[in-house]
Amino acid sequence: MKNLNFSILKYLIISLLAIQTVGLVSCEDLSLNAPKGLIIILKADDLGETTENWNQFIKIVTDSDICAGIGIISKNVKSGNSLNEIRRVSTIKQVNNFPVIEFWNHGYDHLDQGQNTEFRGTDYNYQLEHFQKTQKFFSDSLHIICHSFGAPHNRTSLETNKVLENFSEINVWQYYRKIETNYQKPWKDPDNVVIKNSDKNLILNIDYLFFPNFKLDKIVTNYDIDKKKPYIIIQLHPLGWDSESFENFKAMIHFYKENNRAVFMTPYQYYKFLHNEYISN
Ligand SMILES: [Zn+2]
Repeated sequence: MKNLNFSILKYLIISLLAIQTVGLVSCEDLSLNAPKGLIIILKADDLGETTENWNQFIKIVTDSDICAGIGIISKNVKSGNSLNEIRRVSTIKQVNNFPVIEFWNHGYDHLDQGQNTEFRGTDYNYQLEHFQKTQKFFSDSLHIICHSFGAPHNRTSLETNKVLENFSEINVWQYYRKIETNYQKPWKDPDNVVIKNSDKNLILNIDYLFFPNFKLDKIVTNYDIDKKKPYIIIQLHPLGWDSESFENFKAMIHFYKENNRAVFMTPYQYYKFLHNEYISN
């Protein structure tokens, strides 16, 4: 009996030590735990071929120990080199096992024909075919599941919501509230409602639109307002950046990381975070 009690005691001590060790590890690293400050989602649009600018953008994100989402226009990924590079980058992970770069569906061809864009002024079948082509590109060519969407030109129509209903793997729609007004009830906005585990579809509003250059002043000035929001999305177009934009981008990362002003998440990582999953499987 005495021996048995001792075994139980020993087991309890070991368990407590284990819990304490895990606790310490997660405290040291915010990305393994629930962040208390502002959450930043970077939304970089229009990846096709991997160019020098894209390589530079991805390197800065990776070297800075942050993360970002990149929207792919699948028709524009033409060469084997670019395909291999996107595949390689998609395997780089954060400490929490989420990818450093989350690639997402930014349409098939980014149609720009007067009033008609890929997801506005086009019919249901057209949109369905285009959306499907890019989802297929993700699964067949990149071998990853695409969980997030953002329409070319941030323009959508009533049909878009119906199209997205066909793709249960799509959990996040990044949209520009001022001009995309046709989303419907199934898409939950964390600005307005508390997200429950049963909520499968999130809609996230874009706060900053930068095209083509990247400037920093507004972001720094607005920080005190922004930090009251649950998250912000910053839309970027690194393809058109010059050295000044890249310097501003680095300064922005420094600004947010300094004094823990904010933490970075990818769109799907934020979705998982709102569902209390801080570490990816
Ligand atoms: Zn675009």
